[in-house]
Amino acid sequence: MRAPDRTGASTGSTTYAATPHASAATPTDRPTVVYLGGFGRSGSTLVERVLGAVPGWVNVGELVDLARSVAPADERCGCGEPFSRCPVWRTVGEEAFGGWTEQVLERLVAAHRAAARQRHLPRLLRGGARPSPALAELRELHTRLYRAIAAVTGASVVVDASKGPALGQALAGASDLDVRLLNVVRDPRAVAWSWSRRVERPHATAGTAEMWRIPASRSAAQWAALQLEMGAIAAWGGVPAARLRYEDFAADPVAALVAATAAIGLPLRPADLRAVAAGRVRLGPSHGLSGNPGRFRSGLVTVRRDDRWVDEMPVRDRALVTALTAPLLLTYGYPATGPTGRHDIERHS
Ligand SMILES: [Zn+2]
Repeated sequence: MRAPDRTGASTGSTTYAATPHASAATPTDRPTVVYLGGFGRSGSTLVERVLGAVPGWVNVGELVDLARSVAPADERCGCGEPFSRCPVWRTVGEEAFGGWTEQVLERLVAAHRAAARQRHLPRLLRGGARPSPALAELRELHTRLYRAIAAVTGASVVVDASKGPALGQALAGASDLDVRLLNVVRDPRAVAWSWSRRVERPHATAGTAEMWRIPASRSAAQWAALQLEMGAIAAWGGVPAARLRYEDFAADPVAALVAATAAIGLPLRPADLRAVAAGRVRLGPSHGLSGNPGRFRSGLVTVRRDDRWVDEMPVRDRALVTALTAPLLLTYGYPATGPTGRHDIERHS
C-alpha cells in the first residue's frame, strides 16, 4: 500500500477543513469521497455506518446500486422508507438532476457499464489525456450526485461503500471530486462462508427476497481478484489509498479507524468517533442504500469478529478457499489454519 498522504494532516476540528483543497473550494463544490473498495460480505456496511456517524461525514451505502436496483425496484433506504419516499434521496435527486427520472437512472447505469467495469481497470490505471465520453459522463453524473449529497446532508465527506475497484479508480480521476480509497478486507474463509448462507434481504418492498449466494470457489476467486485490483490501485492509481482489515476494526474500531483515516489523509481523532465506546457502536438510522441487512439495525451494537465459519464451514470448502487465496492470506496476516482467538457477535438493541 502507498505511504500515507500526510498533506491532509489535520490541525483543525473538522477533517474537511484540513484537506489540501479546502481553501480553494467549498465542501459542496468539491466533496471528499471515502470510497470503500473490496469484496462483499467483508463488513463494509458496519464500517461505513460508523464512519457516517462522524460529525461532518455521511454514509450513503452502495451508491452503485442506486440506479441499477434500488430506484427501479423502489427498495428500502436504510431509514426504512422506500427509496421514492425517503426525503433525503428525493431532495438529492431534485438537487442533482431535477428528479430521479428514468432517463437519469439509465444514464448512470450506461455510463458505469461502459466505463467502470472490472475489465476497464487496466485502462483506467494507465490514464491518458482524454477520458472516453462514457467516462466523462460517469464522472460528471457522480460529481453532481456527491455535490447534492453534501449540500442536502450538510456533510463534507461522503462515505460510499460501492466497493468495485474500477468504479473507485474511475471516480478518482474526476477533477471536482476528492476521492480516497479504503480497501476493507476480511478473512476470505469468513467471506466465503457468509456468501454460502441463506440470509433474508429486508431491502425489498414487495414479497420476500434473499441475499445472493455463491459457491466457495467463486467467492475465493472473486476475493483474490478484487484484492489484487485494490493492490494495483494503491500502487499505481495515484489515489490516497489504505487497507483496513475487518478483524482489526472488530477488535478495536477506534484504533483501526484512526489509523486507516490517517493513512488516506483524513485523520480522525478518537473524539470524532463518539458513536463507539468500550467496543460498542451506537448506530442511529442512516440513509445508506443496498448492502448488508445490518443496514437496518440501529441501537447499541457490540461488534466482535464472527468466526462461526471455523466450526460451520465444510472442510472441503475451507481447504479450497485457503488454497486459492494462500499468497494473499500471508500478505494480510491471516493464518492458513484459521483464527487464533474465538469470537462471536453480540447485539444489544
Ligand atoms: Zn432514507
